[in-house]
Amino acid sequence: MNCISWAKTIDALIILQDYELLWGNKLGESGRSFQLPENVHTIGIDELFSKLETNEHGLSKKEALQRLGRIGPNVLSDIGKTSPVRMYVKQYRNFFSILLTIGALLSLLAEYLSPGQGNIYIGIALLGVVILNATFTFIQEYQAEKIMASFHKLLPPHCRVLRDGEMADILAHDLVPGDIMIVEEGDKVPADGRLIDLSALKVDNSPLTGEAEPQLRSLDCTHPNILECRNMVFSGTLVQTGNGRAIVTGTGSNTQIGQLAALTHQTESVETPLRKELNHFIHVISSIAMFLGISFFAVGYFLQEIFLANLIFAIGIIVANVPEGLLPTVTLALSISSKKMAKKNALIKQLESVETLGSTTVICTDKTGTLTQNKMAVSSIVTGFEEIGPDQYPDSGNILTRIMGLCNNSSLSDESPQGYIGDPTEGSLLVYAGKYIDIENLNEKYPRVEEFPFDSLTKNMQVICSTPEKKLESYLKGAPEVVIEMCDSIITENGVVKLSGEDKKQLIQKDIELAEKGERVIAFAYRPTTEIKEHNEGFIFTGFAGTVDPPRPEIKDAISKCHSAGIKVVMITGDHPVTARSIAKKVGLNENGENLEIITGSELEELSMGDLSARLKKRSIVFARTSPVQKLKIVQAFQAEGEVVTMTGDGVNDAPAIKNADMGVAMGSGTDVAREAADMVLLDDNFASIVNAVEEGRRVFDNIKKFIAYILTSNTPEIIPFIAFVLLALPLPMPVQLILAIDLGTDLIPALALAMEKSEGDIMNRPPRSRSEKLLTAPMLLTSYGIKGPIEALAGFVCYFAVLFEGGWVWGQQLAFDNPLYRQSITAFFAAVIICQIANLFISRTRRDSAFSGNFFSNKYVFVGIASELLILSFIMWNPVANLIFNTAPLKPEYIFLAIPFAMLIFSIDEIRKYLIRKNVSIVNKTLGW
Ligand code: ADP
Ligand code: MG
Repeated sequence: MNCISWAKTIDALIILQDYELLWGNKLGESGRSFQLPENVHTIGIDELFSKLETNEHGLSKKEALQRLGRIGPNVLSDIGKTSPVRMYVKQYRNFFSILLTIGALLSLLAEYLSPGQGNIYIGIALLGVVILNATFTFIQEYQAEKIMASFHKLLPPHCRVLRDGEMADILAHDLVPGDIMIVEEGDKVPADGRLIDLSALKVDNSPLTGEAEPQLRSLDCTHPNILECRNMVFSGTLVQTGNGRAIVTGTGSNTQIGQLAALTHQTESVETPLRKELNHFIHVISSIAMFLGISFFAVGYFLQEIFLANLIFAIGIIVANVPEGLLPTVTLALSISSKKMAKKNALIKQLESVETLGSTTVICTDKTGTLTQNKMAVSSIVTGFEEIGPDQYPDSGNILTRIMGLCNNSSLSDESPQGYIGDPTEGSLLVYAGKYIDIENLNEKYPRVEEFPFDSLTKNMQVICSTPEKKLESYLKGAPEVVIEMCDSIITENGVVKLSGEDKKQLIQKDIELAEKGERVIAFAYRPTTEIKEHNEGFIFTGFAGTVDPPRPEIKDAISKCHSAGIKVVMITGDHPVTARSIAKKVGLNENGENLEIITGSELEELSMGDLSARLKKRSIVFARTSPVQKLKIVQAFQAEGEVVTMTGDGVNDAPAIKNADMGVAMGSGTDVAREAADMVLLDDNFASIVNAVEEGRRVFDNIKKFIAYILTSNTPEIIPFIAFVLLALPLPMPVQLILAIDLGTDLIPALALAMEKSEGDIMNRPPRSRSEKLLTAPMLLTSYGIKGPIEALAGFVCYFAVLFEGGWVWGQQLAFDNPLYRQSITAFFAAVIICQIANLFISRTRRDSAFSGNFFSNKYVFVGIASELLILSFIMWNPVANLIFNTAPLKPEYIFLAIPFAMLIFSIDEIRKYLIRKNVSIVNKTLGW
């Protein structure tokens, strides 16, 4: 599927998922009438065939469809998933909910002891907060989980089967007993099956048995226990090497893993750095809150000795300081981001790794398919020593095309857009050979006896076939230097002649010539044989094929974007250094045109850690002729340099590197093993999507900072009134219910709006964030608590005193709780804080840029946020019921206007702060640059 249709499917799938959740729609759950045979591993193959009503050519499409209807799809039912009810109840079982509930109960007790003091409203408000917060968090988590689940559906596992005697690529979901499935290196086995054919097949049964050692398979029944029996492969296990064919004996919950899944529960997910960082943040903030609360209680009790009232104040202070809305807001920001990234073909497996991406300093990327289009086509052919055009019939080519056709595991297919199914390199060779010979006929005439599959370590593949003359012949293809080394003669127009050392040099020269054009060169050879074994000598060199895989058009821009973002891009390939250099230059990997540092796999083995570290400091690095196992070493070497490494991969051997990288990226088209190990999967295999994802990761981190800076500011005008109340014996200017109205009312939508903010202009022009950069930093606390907050408090006091003095109040006079003048004065304080928070919202939209930079109206949610603030303010000020609940009173607008100069002051001071930061004034940067 191409990227556009992927993007469309996402929406469709999310809708589909809703539908399924609503109706619990599960296909074919009803009649399970199909009788599965027992002892599938001990009975004879023919007996198994007849019991399953199938044969070695597989089922017909029609029969398979019927069975699917009767037996149901090949899926495990979601056992062990937390139910929504449970998830909801869980939201009440945290420290803050419990704290607030106790506070509420105490308030209600206070109301009972001395009625009419307004404590009942505080109690109700606190309970409301608990319920609202839990509900909101629940909705967020539930939706995030749903999004993640729908992402899983976006990567439906595929598998290969024989249907109507032909190889077909189907969804693993549609597999039925009796199918003949084909498994290969890197596949996750889609169902349980009894092997009927295999070559060098090793499986990793650890998902089932816990044994990590890959296990060899055979066709014999080796053990009465089915799990120990080597002639079986099991659903959910991984194919480490080789390939094989098996009759499907069980699907869905009728598999070994299906039975196991019914017994076990899902494991808890691990903590990501962001989650830790957030927990740290909440810890610090709550400690401050608790400290303040307890101190106030102690001081208040000491001064006034009213236990209950002071307790409620204390709880109020704690409530004021705890950012209740933070976690749901972060979750929301992350899930919006991951949705956005999914639309751009990058699926994040865990929400919080979005942010890890943002701190990446090195991206190690595969060449084939990621930087290039993976649309291989043969562009040069050499037979013997002779180069011919790619459209010319290879004369001694009879044998060349034969090797191409036989030593090949892909197959031609009209249904796939490329014309083949399988590995692109092999597919392109098959397409080329198919122009001159009938591949199907060839395979019938030369049946395969044995295969030694391609391995990126040995870089060659061999098959042994039986010829029409009933002789055995071995066919070899692989990397030129490997193949040439195994040859002692060459086929030319004059027949087979000996290959001298000089000749070999000439062939190597030819190889380099092709590689310089950016071609990936494959060499071919054959030999007669009598033994069925992997040979490493005595081959007859036959020719070369050079295939090209053009770079993706968008790569050049994506790489230069990385360079300006201070991210190093490192290309890793199994190709020849000359091919690698040519491609690297084409995609602009050499930063500022500087020299490319090319490190080959064998150098990597020999270099000492010190030498390697020196070479890794270069800006433009290419690893050539590397094997995937060396990727792990590369990741670790970069990490030792203190880099944050993003690593891509698609094969089985890539999995350790993907797992160990800070951010492991697997290709959507890659093996199941790689996808399992990765943190992110690229649906379109495209490097440019990684770069988009990095930008998104940086944006998310910035935005989380922005809304933290925003919500922290209002804490100061919430706390200072308490201090004034205790120390100056003023009538309390900001009672608890109004604090809650800010924290969970007026601040909420603006904070969410900041999560939607677009990235600042320089986001991809500044170096990556340092590892130690925290969400909550001293400069942020200083700016919010120390500068913006006090101005807001000042605005509050000015309005508050204006009302009081105008109303005839004299300093030191106590006012009753229900005195209209008191009610007006607290309304004025509240209104002033809201007005200032509007200014704060505008300045929090950027970290460095001026608030006027960019499009002022680019984020419509900011204006929704302001509207919500003004609406809540009007309601609290003018609605009679709200007046009763919040103990407020209608206010003349003049008093509110008094706050406007302070709002402008906050705005101006912050503009100056940002200006100085942009000018790189180091003292400002250090103390106020968050
Ligand atoms: P990459 O990381 O670029 O995919 P590989 O390790 O897959 O590198 O390939 C390394 C070399 O092995 C290639 O340059 C090519 O010469 C050869 N090669 C690649 N695929 C095959 C194959 N299926 N059969 C034989 N040789 C191959
Ligand atoms: Mg490869």
